[in-house]
Parts: sequence; structure tokens; C-alpha cells
Amino acid sequence: MPAMLIAGNWKMHKAAGETIEFCTALRAAVEGLDGVEIVVCPPYTSLDEAVRTLAGSEIHVFAQNAHWEPEGAFTGEVSAPMLAELGVVGSLVAHSERRQLFAETNESAARRIAGVLDAGLRVIACVGETEQEREAGETEAVLTRQVEAIRGAVENDDVHRLTIAYEPVWAIGTGRTATPEQAEEAHALIRSLFDVPVLYGGSVKPDNASVLLSQPDVDGALVGGASLDVEPFAAICRAGAEAAAAA
Ligand code: PEP
Repeated sequence: MPAMLIAGNWKMHKAAGETIEFCTALRAAVEGLDGVEIVVCPPYTSLDEAVRTLAGSEIHVFAQNAHWEPEGAFTGEVSAPMLAELGVVGSLVAHSERRQLFAETNESAARRIAGVLDAGLRVIACVGETEQEREAGETEAVLTRQVEAIRGAVENDDVHRLTIAYEPVWAIGTGRTATPEQAEEAHALIRSLFDVPVLYGGSVKPDNASVLLSQPDVDGALVGGASLDVEPFAAICRAGAEAAAAA
């Protein structure tokens, strides 16, 4: 992978029409940027438009979730081979909203990761502690359990298709970010457990991206709110390219 990966998680935003408009403008805004891979993660119903609009560009499309089985009686679910057929190249797994609102566990996350990798796709697997866990001094134990579950799901031959995103739950959508030191400490821990690229996520904005991305163990960013408008997201991508050039 290039030195930096910047991924935009749109969550439940942008229907098909808006997706075409956004992707067209994003292509133009980031054209020629070196050293940074850009990913967008639209909702399922907009994936096809995103893939078509971004075809031939350096911007890749990931889903936000995928089921572990390739097919079956799982009403409302979408499988990794279905995503692959659309031209989607990967999926987020175990975002903290999936963990907190939809009962994702380390065990179900591990099954999803294996299913997505088996389909030949890439995975961005999310980990992170809650505020309560951080205050109780449990950050290291929580991250260790989450990362070990991920590691157990990945065959050696597939490791190159896995990225971890460290997203402290207390920093997601709150406007609070981890300090660069907190981010670096967590990333170094994660990397000591499993040596794969590690993105930081949690209120990344154009004005804090450079300092976070310049930490030695930060390999990119997973961006929520600031990925919904082209200009702030493109500015974060430019910060990624600058951090990659400076590394
Ligand atoms: C996210 O949802 O992955 C995220 C990091 O959101 P935000 O940037 O809005 O905190």
C-alpha cells in the first residue's frame, strides 16, 4: 500500500444521485495526489454508482460491512462475493457503531473478516476503547482482545489485505480527538500485536490531520463527518500526501 491510506466512512449518508455528484467532484479535487490511497465507503445502495463514477481513478470503494457467509438465509444481509461482483474492493468490519448499536462482538467480527478475505477483498477492521474503559485503565486490555481476535481470523497469505483502524469510541463524531501522543501509543501497541498498517479515526478534520498523520505509527485516517463534503475530505487527503512525502 502507498505510505498513507485515507478512507471516508459515509455511514448512512448519500443516496445514489448525491454519490455521483460527490465522486465526480472528489476525483477532480484529488487528481495527481501522490503517496496516498483514497477510499470511500458509501452505503450499500450507493456502491454501484460510486464504483462506476470512480472507475479508472485512484479512488477505491469499500463497503461498510459484510456478512461472513457467501450466501444463505440471512435476511437483510449482504455478502462479500456480492460486493466483489459490483467492483467493490474491500469492506470496513466492526466499526464501533456496529459494535455498540448492532451487537457486533470480537467473535462475529472475526468471522466477517475471514469471510471478506476469503472473497478476495480487503478489510479495514476497527478497534477502540470506550471512554469508560479508558478511564478505568483498560485501554490496553481492550485493544489487545480486539486485535487478537482480528489476528486469529487472518491467514498468513491474506495479511497484506488487512488494515486496522484505531478509533477511540469517545472521539468518534464528538469533535474530541486523541492527542497525537495517545494515538501513537495505541498504534504502537496495536502494531506490536499485529504488524499491519494502522489508521487513526475519531474526529479527524483538515486542521488536525497533519499532526496526527505525522506520528510514526499512524498510516492514515478513517474519517467520518469530514468525509461527507468534498473540500474537507480532499484537504485531509492532501495532508496525507504531505505526511507521506515527509516520512
Ligand atoms: C468514524 O465514524 O469512523 C469516524 C471516525 O467518525 P468521525 O470522523 O465523524 O469522528
